[in-house]
Amino acid sequence: MVDSKTIIDGLAEIVGRKFVKTTPEVIAEYAVDNMTPMAVLSPKNTQQVSEIVKFANLENLAIVPRGSGSKMSLGNPPKRLDLVVCTTRMNHMLDVDTANLTITVEAGVKFRDVQARLATEDDRCYLPLEDLVTEGDEFICSDRSHSGCFLPIDPPCSEKATMGGIVAANSSGPRRLLYNLPRDFILGVRFVAPNGEIVGAGGKTVKNVSGYDISKLMIGSIGTLGIICEMTFKLLPLPEQMATLLFSFGTFSAACDFADHIFETSLLPAAVEVMNATAFANLKMNATPDFATDGYVVAVALETFEEAVKRMVKEIREMARDCGAQSDASLQNQLHLQFWLAVSSLDPNLAARFAGLIKAKLNYRISEWKDIFEFAENTLFQGKLEHAISAHAGCGICTISLLMGQGGNGSVDQAIEVMGQLLKRSREAGGNLVIQYAPADMKKRLSIWGELPPDFAVVKRVKEQVDPSGIMSPGRFVGGL
Ligand SMILES: Cc1cc2nc3c(=O)[nH]c(=O)nc-3n(C[C@H](O)[C@H](O)[C@H](O)COP(=O)(O)OP(=O)(O)OC[C@H]3O[C@@H](n4cnc5c(N)ncnc54)[C@H](O)[C@@H]3O)c2cc1C
Repeated sequence: MVDSKTIIDGLAEIVGRKFVKTTPEVIAEYAVDNMTPMAVLSPKNTQQVSEIVKFANLENLAIVPRGSGSKMSLGNPPKRLDLVVCTTRMNHMLDVDTANLTITVEAGVKFRDVQARLATEDDRCYLPLEDLVTEGDEFICSDRSHSGCFLPIDPPCSEKATMGGIVAANSSGPRRLLYNLPRDFILGVRFVAPNGEIVGAGGKTVKNVSGYDISKLMIGSIGTLGIICEMTFKLLPLPEQMATLLFSFGTFSAACDFADHIFETSLLPAAVEVMNATAFANLKMNATPDFATDGYVVAVALETFEEAVKRMVKEIREMARDCGAQSDASLQNQLHLQFWLAVSSLDPNLAARFAGLIKAKLNYRISEWKDIFEFAENTLFQGKLEHAISAHAGCGICTISLLMGQGGNGSVDQAIEVMGQLLKRSREAGGNLVIQYAPADMKKRLSIWGELPPDFAVVKRVKEQVDPSGIMSPGRFVGGL
């Protein structure tokens, strides 16, 4: 085994000494589940990523890629870790082709900068630009394509997340109800495979692959099948009108009857989010609407033509009144964007407040959402576990955050027990439960990826074939792959 000095020198040859971090206090910040790498590398382009991976193969070094690091907690603790490869210097927009409604960006480009780049001349954008917070010497992309397009994905941490991290984690939020997932907007990917080869899959046109659609394989692979370096997405024109209606209900059953009423109509909301008072209370909005609840909130996002929004506002309000809504608020355009930015920032806010935060994502048959939500609430109350719960109604997705540790309460044993019960119940409803976030020392007691998928044998073969030396994020994925 070559000594670490030789390894560091070899890596510095590739990216330059300045972009190889080894000082203990710095690399500690890049630890993955309390495992600290030997070095943190910041390559400037795909070619350098390829050389790093080839070098790592030669020296049998384990790599974990990283974007902004907001979701490094997703997955099992790595079996071993030598290098963290950071994509933040790979932050160029390679092709903005709004005539063909496509954009090609490097993995380190931030989601917020993509939306800013696509904003109109008068800064109409899919994110509230003036509310976005930057860190250090960061700045929001000021270049405008004046196109009035947007990238219709709705990831949590939308202020910080990189495109590579969003795609690698297949991150999505409440507005997947209308727009679906990152996988539905990706046209092509360029990535470095575990053997260091640069692979291009897909392209700028919708149907551009004959054979296996490898670009889709990379989505949600959290760095286990290679390092995503460039991506091409398809875009949509910015909605003419955007608004959100907030309704407060005293009971969960009233809130979900109302949500179900919406789905019995031909109306097309962008999101129907049902959250408990704790989740709503933890939303940080600059301009808090005159609206409060001690029960449940249903937030309905409407993003389409002005006439259609007007009609939906009128009809949905009537439905809410008939279902016993106690209060309501209407958030137009900027306030609408600020509200969903606050929703996307809920996770990092809770993670900052509760050191022992455990966050789970449950999926299930859409028709069972009420039973699952109610089962979860009752089980958490019986377990005396303080929690924020939110359902993407109409999507078969519910997220639960246990507000544990400093600032929160509840026993770890109880939390582990309850997560087991919720996993069992999700399985019965045809779904699964994945732990999205948890303290590293608790992970070995949690079933991070829930039940093994029925196609696990093929998933395992793919990983073993693509990464025979097991250097890419070893152990982090389903079944400890
Ligand atoms: C407490 C908390 C809970 C969250 N829960 C959810 C959730 O339930 N659902 C959700 O969709 N989002 C969730 N997120 C948001 C998520 O962090 C972001 O939306 C996004 O997925 C992460 O972007 P990032 O750049 O920070 O990625 P990082 O955190 O840096 O990386 C995310 C994952 O992708 C891998 N990766 C990063 N870049 C690359 C690349 N170029 N090639 C290959 N692999 C790469 C990393 O190894 C890591 O496994 C949560 C965030 C927080 C803080």
